[in-house]
Amino acid sequence: RCGFVAIVGRPNVGKSTLLNHILGQKLSITSRKPQTTRHKVLGIKTEGPVQAIYVDTPGMHVEEPRALNRYMNKAATSALSGVDVVVFVVDQLAWTTADEMVLEKLSKLDCPVILAVNKVDRIEKRESLLPHLDMLSRKRNFAEIIPMSALKETNLEPLEKAVTRFL
Ligand code: GDP
Ligand code: MG
Repeated sequence: RCGFVAIVGRPNVGKSTLLNHILGQKLSITSRKPQTTRHKVLGIKTEGPVQAIYVDTPGMHVEEPRALNRYMNKAATSALSGVDVVVFVVDQLAWTTADEMVLEKLSKLDCPVILAVNKVDRIEKRESLLPHLDMLSRKRNFAEIIPMSALKETNLEPLEKAVTRFL
């Protein structure tokens, strides 16, 4: 089995950190040149019979200037159309309008979206996360909601397992 995985989210939520920790050094095959295909391959992780191809999706970057225009451009959504599963990364306790824009973009998509609530290592009291998770769960019918820490590699495995389910 193999499939395409897109990691999306507003800047600074930890997408790059997550990708680096998922792929690691030994397991990643990072492409050196821009791909001519629809998606830019960032890395491939093979685990037994399953191959997860992590891709970069054009039009999902809020970092870039004119990002807002891109968000208004429905064509950007189609960039995600070849993807089997989306990992939507958010920061624990910090939901912003930029997150809302990403969510809006994903709303036109019918592929499964896994919500990765990152940086939970920063939380002192676990209970404080619960109302936030509850709020997030109402935003969309997420395939799964996984509190995690990319940096500390907390719940990284459950996240990867969840991804694998859709490949
Ligand atoms: P991106 O813009 O979404 O790619 O975010 P980055 O991966 O560049 O991370 C932004 C900042 O958040 C960096 O300083 C990371 O070290 C930090 N960060 C990422 N993941 C975690 C995490 O799980 N816990 C904590 N405490 N910091 C994190
Ligand atoms: Mg990044």
